[in-house]
Amino acid sequence: MTEDRSLEEFTGERSADDNAETEERDAEPSDAADGDASAAVATYRWDPEGVDCAACGESVERLWNADGGFVCEACKEW
Ligand SMILES: [Zn+2]
Repeated sequence: MTEDRSLEEFTGERSADDNAETEERDAEPSDAADGDASAAVATYRWDPEGVDCAACGESVERLWNADGGFVCEACKEW
């Protein structure tokens, strides 16, 4: 329960998506396991103040690395 509280404080929003947070944690190790630890750094970026999506321009907290830049979840090709 303390973990949920700290997550809310960190994001600054009560709408924090626990599932999305888990996906991000899972994504990092698997990318690092590919052989290059630096790859994990560029997999996604997260900014509580919001970052503009390179594809649609919408300001979102989480952006994933894609061809041409960082895009929001809706624009990311999974
Ligand atoms: Zn987008």
